[in-house]
Amino acid sequence: MHVMWWCKRMDNILNGNSKNSQYRPFLEELVSIGYKNTALFEPAVFFIASNEGILSAYKMGYLPASMDEAFSHFESNFSAQKLKCKCKDSLLLAVPFSVPDTEVPLYLGVVLSDMTEEEPIISYLEGIVIGLGMTTNRLKKKKMFPINELLDLAGYQMEFTPLANALNTCYKKSESGSGKLIIVERNEERFVPLFYPSHWNLEHFDAVFQQQHYESKIGGELLVLFKDSQLFDNNYHYHVTCAIKMENKPVSLLLFTFETEQEAQKAMDEYAQSIKEILPILEKAYIQEKDVQEAQRRDILLQVTKKFHSTMDIGEVLGEIVEAIERAYPHYHVHLLLSQEWEVKENISIKPLKYGTESGNSTAEHAYLTGQIQVDKGLDDHSKILYAPLRGKQGVYGVMEIMTSENVHVPQYEIDFIQMLADTGGNALENAELYQQSRNLIHDLQLINETSHQLNSNLRLADTINFMTQQIIESFKAEEVGFIMFHANGEAEVLDGSTPFFMNEDSLDALEPLIRKVKRDKDPIYIGDTELHEDMQLDVYKSVLMVPMIQNNELKGMVVTVHQSSYHFTFDNFKLLQSLIHHSTLAFSNSMLHEELERLVITDHLTKLFSRNHLDERIQESMYKQNQGTFLLLDIDNFKQINDTYGHQVGDDIIIQVANIMKRNIREKDIAARWGGEELAIYLPNIDVSIGKQIAARIVKAVEIETSPRVTVSIGLSHWSSRENEVSLKLLFNQADTALYEAKETGKNRVVVK
Ligand code: GH3
Ligand code: MG
Ligand code: MG
Repeated sequence: MHVMWWCKRMDNILNGNSKNSQYRPFLEELVSIGYKNTALFEPAVFFIASNEGILSAYKMGYLPASMDEAFSHFESNFSAQKLKCKCKDSLLLAVPFSVPDTEVPLYLGVVLSDMTEEEPIISYLEGIVIGLGMTTNRLKKKKMFPINELLDLAGYQMEFTPLANALNTCYKKSESGSGKLIIVERNEERFVPLFYPSHWNLEHFDAVFQQQHYESKIGGELLVLFKDSQLFDNNYHYHVTCAIKMENKPVSLLLFTFETEQEAQKAMDEYAQSIKEILPILEKAYIQEKDVQEAQRRDILLQVTKKFHSTMDIGEVLGEIVEAIERAYPHYHVHLLLSQEWEVKENISIKPLKYGTESGNSTAEHAYLTGQIQVDKGLDDHSKILYAPLRGKQGVYGVMEIMTSENVHVPQYEIDFIQMLADTGGNALENAELYQQSRNLIHDLQLINETSHQLNSNLRLADTINFMTQQIIESFKAEEVGFIMFHANGEAEVLDGSTPFFMNEDSLDALEPLIRKVKRDKDPIYIGDTELHEDMQLDVYKSVLMVPMIQNNELKGMVVTVHQSSYHFTFDNFKLLQSLIHHSTLAFSNSMLHEELERLVITDHLTKLFSRNHLDERIQESMYKQNQGTFLLLDIDNFKQINDTYGHQVGDDIIIQVANIMKRNIREKDIAARWGGEELAIYLPNIDVSIGKQIAARIVKAVEIETSPRVTVSIGLSHWSSRENEVSLKLLFNQADTALYEAKETGKNRVVVK
């Protein structure tokens, strides 16, 4: 309605006895409406110009000085050749128009900040100008589609969809429209309806609206009459069609339906003039709409790609894609069906992608397997569901499910666009996955590297196992780890360094079925949930990994790791444990062999002291033949620190130094032995406590003075005599051990007698 008002006013201004200054009220009106409607134009200067220069101007809002200056510049330099130009921070935009019955070319323009987006402003100006030009002197004649009304209904938007909507509304209201107006749009080789009654069946259209059919018949004609009994419903056998063209190809059709041929014929004459007027506008609007959409999509794609390149965070990229689609298509609902668990923002709807199951979604599954976008009917007949696979370069990582809630047609270029976004998501998932994989790989290599390093540093078996146990607990978040060795006689032994659950005597019984199985098959075992294996109950533990230790085809033992939650370990964990054990079995069996040998030989190779085994035999012999004896158990103080500070080589040397000091301080028939590690022992046959104590004190002192780097030792002393009720190796050792413990507790570097 505003346009109508302006037009009348325009007529007055231009045709009446107007002077230039009278443009001003018109401009004021124009601006105030523009301002109210859009709040776009503040601050701005609206103007009307002719080829001679700016005729009238109206300033709107508080103008910055620079815009004022710019306007002065434009005012003195206005030219029809420069309808879009910049000066300082200001932008001039103008569109030409002419007033019917006068030949004077005029321009409607505006000067505003150059930060303003041009497109909507131009559209706005053009909308007004078209309204003005078309209506002035034609108001008397009744029109099918008065442009002013159309623009008004379309909210002054020069885009195709709002215009087409307005056209539809306009036609329904007009008396001449006895039938219906149907607007269809080209999609590939056929036309699909834009607006149509909801009870009509879409499939019916498909058969009829072949593009060829219309293209050839319409040719260069403005309006063409078609008879088609199949179309729509029985009452409307005739339709008059007009094509909106882009590059000479019909891109959209307006179809007016009629019951009789006469009616249709009559309409052909009546509508012609009106159609002739609006057709160029519709065509222009069509192009404009495509441009805007294109720009929007480019923008979205740019945004998503930027995000994609700026972050490795998969959650953010997926979030951006979902948001982009919901921004571009507010009526769509997007869900992600992912083949793996990824961490994504909470507000994005994620469903697991189930496949191969009854409950799975077969269309989604198809999209996932073929990598091709799939379209399915929604729950009701009016909605559709699109399944776009999230494709990377090496695989498909999930499916994006898009539900359209309305009775809409999704044209091919939209589908292509959605697939493009989905592919960006797929690539992002793939990158994140590869990144994670490479990090895991590096971590695995580090673990294996560190382990072999440790194994090569000649630790005692228990220390090695302790180390491995810690590694496995850390890397696999395991709760318990057990190293079990099989002796030649078939007996299984849990090695020191395993965790408490395995050190418990009952556990070996529970492990029996596992042991039997590994002895038979020599294969690694993965159990996700022990509940599903009747014979494999391991206390509260549900997840079990078992890897055999095999050397030269011979089964040496096995490693078992467990967790209380079912399916705690991944298959990757299982593989890594195998490779870890594979790499360390040689070192293991070597040190097992070594310790076995140590038990057999009489002298310890490092210290040249007697071996533990030999010590045991000699004490037993003494207990058999003699009446008393004294036993010293000696442990180097803070020895770990020595190793850590100077390295193992120096550590070994210290053990040798201490061993030599021991030898120098005892008699020929006394026995000095390596008890194990940095623990040494002396047996003094037929020696009583007080002399034993003197010898021990002498050794403690000598070690403190003579070793370099300097160390001290603690000694626990025990004594047996035939007068006592119980005499045994075990008791003797236990008492020495307790005494040694007390020596350590009370400050080290001393002797404690039990
Ligand atoms: P404490 O005073 O309580 O005895 O402290 P510590 O540091 O000696 O503690 P602990 O007995 O627990 O540590 C002994 C260390 O000696 C651990 C082990 O790595 C190291 N060790 C054991 N046998 C050997 C060996 O033959 N050579 C070397 N270089 N080090 C050994
Ligand atoms: Mg020790
Ligand atoms: Mg020690």
